[in-house]
Amino acid sequence: MTGLQADLVLRARRAWIDGAFRPAAVVVRDGRIVEVLPLDTDVQATEDHRVPDDQVLLPGLVDTHVHVNEPGRTEWEGFASATRAAALGGVTTILDMPLNSIPATTTVDALAVKRTSATGRVAVDVGFWGGAVPASLGSLDALHDAGVFGFKCFTAPSGVDEFPHLDPEQLRAAIEEVARIDALLIVHAEDPAYLVAHDALGSHYEDFLVTRPVDAERSAIARVIDGARETGARVHILHLSDAGALPMLRAAKADGVRITVETCPHYLAFEAGTIPDGATEYKCCPPIRDDANRDALWAGVLDGTIDMIVSDHSPSTADLKVDDWGLAWGGIAGLQVGFRAVWTEGSRRGVPLEALLPLVTTGPAALAGFSDRGVIAPGALAHFAVFDPDVTAVIEVAGLAHRNPVSAFAGHEARGRVTETWLRGRLIATADGGVTAVGGELVARSAPVGAVAAVLDGIETRL
Ligand SMILES: [Zn+2]
Repeated sequence: MTGLQADLVLRARRAWIDGAFRPAAVVVRDGRIVEVLPLDTDVQATEDHRVPDDQVLLPGLVDTHVHVNEPGRTEWEGFASATRAAALGGVTTILDMPLNSIPATTTVDALAVKRTSATGRVAVDVGFWGGAVPASLGSLDALHDAGVFGFKCFTAPSGVDEFPHLDPEQLRAAIEEVARIDALLIVHAEDPAYLVAHDALGSHYEDFLVTRPVDAERSAIARVIDGARETGARVHILHLSDAGALPMLRAAKADGVRITVETCPHYLAFEAGTIPDGATEYKCCPPIRDDANRDALWAGVLDGTIDMIVSDHSPSTADLKVDDWGLAWGGIAGLQVGFRAVWTEGSRRGVPLEALLPLVTTGPAALAGFSDRGVIAPGALAHFAVFDPDVTAVIEVAGLAHRNPVSAFAGHEARGRVTETWLRGRLIATADGGVTAVGGELVARSAPVGAVAAVLDGIETRL
């Protein structure tokens, strides 16, 4: 029995703790988990909540790749709508990408503008990436000190004029700079030398796919690996689409290069051969490739080469999704349903849920340097998602909470559903009732990770 009065105890037959499902009573006080006890322990708590036995209790998911676009392109997406979508998807922390908003998050002032526009309007916790563009090279430390989680750069045109890409020499300078200030560089890795210039392409997906060949990814990733290997910099490959790059990533990791890699739900759920003509809600860069590539990406997920699965949620207004693959805006909206799509395809392949959970919790949390979320453990924030893994339903566009309900995932049958989301011990969203609270906080890159880890170490898990 616990001594002090708790605010909440969440009891679940299957709670995901230390990498396995275990029966547990999770005790919450002041927004944090204070104890994890045997399921039927007598606990004095204001609220005693039992998760149905056919559902699982998960830590709130962490999505480190979200384009919120506000301010500046708020008609595409905004803090209120994006974080509602996150809450309904069990995602309790998002990190916002530095581009597509105006201003882009490339200066301390721009970061302040973004924080101001988000304040008081977010349903889940939100942090920010900074941008490494030619003009910000040499002065990244100020933005780093202001609390961004690292720096995003492009090696090919980003799609928006206000966020220019880095050429190979500038990329090298960025890698050297993040090594010097012990920051993290996250890279959109496509080499423009291999991209095929185009205007209109028509309605056939194959005609778009050939403009962004695998060699573009491989060349850029090789350059990033070389830079990290030679400088000791910490780097991360965003949205890996080409599974052919996995062997060199695997080798670099084996050599001790400080590199991590993510892929996205759309690369694991979809394949080029089944994308309908003109269905540009599936357009993204790098592109969704063929079925054999998808199989190999799944192998990379299961062997640990791929560290995390994050949404790259990048919506736009519906009118920019014209039915010409060359002219349509690129970006897939999957924040709310990405995890369901991954589980749907994973379970079809016989992958257990336990094997996927690190990729949406501890994997992205580690990228951001969080040690207070992504786990159910004493000392961690009381962020939870309750997930029903077996229910199936067609994803309806009307049920998507992001601003412009256009999504490649709409119309697909999905397995699993997030039924409840909790933030700091408070129920903030349910599948039937929607989002009921807007109490997210803005988060900054934490002070020494070791300090939080020491707190976690000091509290015993008594199971
Ligand atoms: Zn992105």
